[in-house]
Amino acid sequence: MTRILDAYVTLFSRNYRFMSKTTDTMEKLVSLCKRRGFIFPSSEIYGGLKSCWDYGPLGVELKRNVKEAWWHAMVRRRRDVVGIDCSIFMHPKVWETSGHLAGFNDPMVDCKLCKARFRADTIENQVCPKKPSKRPGDCEGELTEPRQFNLMFKTNMGPVENDDSVVYLRPETAQGIFVNFKNVVDTSRMKPPFGIAQQGKSFRNEIVTENFIFRSREFEQMEMEFFVPPAEADEWYVFWRDARYKWFTDLGVKPEKLRLREHDSDELAHYSKCCADVEYEFPFGWKELEGIANRTDFDLQRHAEATGRDLRFFDDQSKERYFPHVIEPALGVDRATLTFLVDAYEEEELGEGDNRTVLHLHPALAPIKAGIFPLVKKDGLPEIAHQLEDDLREYFNVFYDQSGAIGRRYRRQDEIGTPFCITVDFDTKTDQAVTIRERDKMTQERVPLDQVKAYLDERLKF
Ligand code: ATP
Repeated sequence: MTRILDAYVTLFSRNYRFMSKTTDTMEKLVSLCKRRGFIFPSSEIYGGLKSCWDYGPLGVELKRNVKEAWWHAMVRRRRDVVGIDCSIFMHPKVWETSGHLAGFNDPMVDCKLCKARFRADTIENQVCPKKPSKRPGDCEGELTEPRQFNLMFKTNMGPVENDDSVVYLRPETAQGIFVNFKNVVDTSRMKPPFGIAQQGKSFRNEIVTENFIFRSREFEQMEMEFFVPPAEADEWYVFWRDARYKWFTDLGVKPEKLRLREHDSDELAHYSKCCADVEYEFPFGWKELEGIANRTDFDLQRHAEATGRDLRFFDDQSKERYFPHVIEPALGVDRATLTFLVDAYEEEELGEGDNRTVLHLHPALAPIKAGIFPLVKKDGLPEIAHQLEDDLREYFNVFYDQSGAIGRRYRRQDEIGTPFCITVDFDTKTDQAVTIRERDKMTQERVPLDQVKAYLDERLKF
């Protein structure tokens, strides 16, 4: 097990030789994720499957909380957005119409010497696998001319493998929303401006995967298509761009590590009028975290042309029929999860040689909301602590721990981002109160047992 972990940390760090601080922080985070059960390499006992990851008991809670925070902000809290959950396989013509079959490509080059493959457009960030101190092409190997590689995964539906049974694993969730536009309008009585949101798996056969869960071949996306009257598109673009930036800072991401970057016109996709990325300064540099694009009416127009269906919206007040324009915020769940982890990670020196590793996760995202500790394993304290645990479990993910000194129990929870630790002590039997210790400031306060739920409720709000 340790050997596999070492091997994959080594593999991971090899890509970062040019940035030693990166290696340090990312290695430590990858190791913490493995050691504490956040994220494991997929099929690890078989040596792992490159670029695929499994979320462990803490990781799955964190990821669910990230998705829940997004759904809450983007759907539940808004009367102008509804949700949808579409299938991963779609009619293959969808991808012809959307342009993915012809154009969802990255340029690829091969090394004629070691046969390794690289993405031609990001080659400056890659290293030669044989001579990791050099970049591809700077070693003895000669590179082929770039050629286009389609990123969609292809398979066959049903028992017969021929051209007619070819289907694709969706490379984005957005197309499911466009092809259901009419269904949603007809059944929900939504009218522009309104949005349809979706969370779900997407698949891209990336030429190079990198940076732990930052870029993988199977990942989850959270996308929302906001349909607006064409004249309102610019205004809504600015609204969603700024709202998406704020979502991250509301969830505690440090503003100095986050920026909005408008795309230059030569960076824009053919269907997009303008686009901004929310970028985060990862240990491996500033990278796209989320994209917000004005997709105009490109997708609805194309699907209408391809199917012969009228996908225009009919405004019964103005009696106008038109294709709404679309503002799309598109975020990767795994990339967001990595951001929250990286941003929260800190090694703190507490003085007198005392250190701790702490994840300053926003309480709404923390996998465990409270640790519950009886001071000792006897004298009726475990019974009171278990009763509190049972009461709180109805509402929050909590964790009971009675082993080791209290200080060590605190440290174990700090390292996984648990915002509160509740200690049941001898006084609890008489004053019916517990001590709640807060993770970041390490302050403690006495709270009556019957007010613990309200105390947590108040602090877990987002
Ligand atoms: P990149 O330039 O990083 O490849 P992109 O511009 O192709 O990203 P979009 O198609 O806009 O990405 O997808 C929206 C979001 O989905 C991205 O901002 C990112 O958060 C996430 N995402 C895209 N590709 C991957 C991937 N291979 N692994 C993990 N997340 C991804």
